[in-house]
Amino acid sequence: MSGKIIITIDGGSSCGKSTLAKQLAAKLDYLYIDSGAMYRAITLYFLRNNVDFENVNQIKEALINITLEFIVNEYSNQSEIFLNGENVEYIIRDLVVAEKVSEVASLKDVRSFAVAAQQKMGKHKGIVMDGRDIGTTVFPDAEVKIFMIADEAVRVERRFREMFDKNPNITLDEIKANIEMRDYIDSHREVSPLRKAADAAELDNTNLTEKEQLDFALKLIKKTMKSTEIENE
Ligand code: C5P
Repeated sequence: MSGKIIITIDGGSSCGKSTLAKQLAAKLDYLYIDSGAMYRAITLYFLRNNVDFENVNQIKEALINITLEFIVNEYSNQSEIFLNGENVEYIIRDLVVAEKVSEVASLKDVRSFAVAAQQKMGKHKGIVMDGRDIGTTVFPDAEVKIFMIADEAVRVERRFREMFDKNPNITLDEIKANIEMRDYIDSHREVSPLRKAADAAELDNTNLTEKEQLDFALKLIKKTMKSTEIENE
């Protein structure tokens, strides 16, 4: 496929966005950016430094001191997030961070900071980014937009399997409560709420295999690339 494009994948928590985004990025040789990891890393910094979420000055000051980078791990070939030079890819998946991340992600200054960084990363296109507002706010002109949904029970089960390996004490109820809480805050916040972009294709993967959802996305991408090429002729 010629001419790089931007692919956005949005949806609620644990819908399988990152699985699809990583597969697409590998297939197309694009950069994969996990925008949720950025909000999680900012939350980790806020928690470690006792930033008061209601104090705008403290928030602004903290953001000045935060540098986020994605670096590809040469063994796994996956990009990992670094907060001020420290690899925090795994620690940000903790429930302690997950409990606070939606609150932090609803702060206006935090969103401006993250969105500006995300737009910079997509300047040269050739990027797959997943999150909540990527197709609506970060890249409203993206060529391909996917909005993922899945039944809640399936999402809870998937997240549970993912987290159980790291924390065998975790319960299904804790995961369910966290997913519900985050989805509620994410879709009700004032700035950039979780919403399907009018021009996004909906993908319900409740009963789909990873291969089936990848095929769905690739078909969509091929169709878009073809029409973009025709438009440019
Ligand atoms: O994608 P992930 O579940 O890791 O995202 C963690 C949290 O970061 C979400 O629950 C949401 O509050 C926030 N987020 C956001 N906008 C994005 C990506 C994530 O508000 N684009």
